Amino acid sequence: MAKELPIVPTATPGSLAEISAASSWREYRPEIQEPGKVNPKVLFFCPEGALFHEEGIIAVDLSVCKGCGICAVESDGIVMVPEYTGVLGIFGVKEGSK
Ligand code: SF4
Repeated sequence: MAKELPIVPTATPGSLAEISAASSWREYRPEIQEPGKVNPKVLFFCPEGALFHEEGIIAVDLSVCKGCGICAVESDGIVMVPEYTGVLGIFGVKEGSK
């Protein structure tokens, strides 16, 4: 008889496993600059499930986004910008140049 297993990995509510640390790795974050140009299929490309629909437009949950940039490659309207604000950011990179 087959053992019943959960369909997806699970974490005990409140445990450290429940909290994503991916956002702490981020050097760049996605910014949706032109919501009307974002292809809804980009939701399927995000490895973290950080993209979601909110009132008919695509939005980003930055608490789980790891800043990989796949969404900006796969869809118009999304640009990766330095995580840290300022004219050149802490890495000396001009915003929108990546
Ligand atoms: S940068 Fe990567 S993790 Fe963040 S929303 Fe885009 S695809 Fe998802």
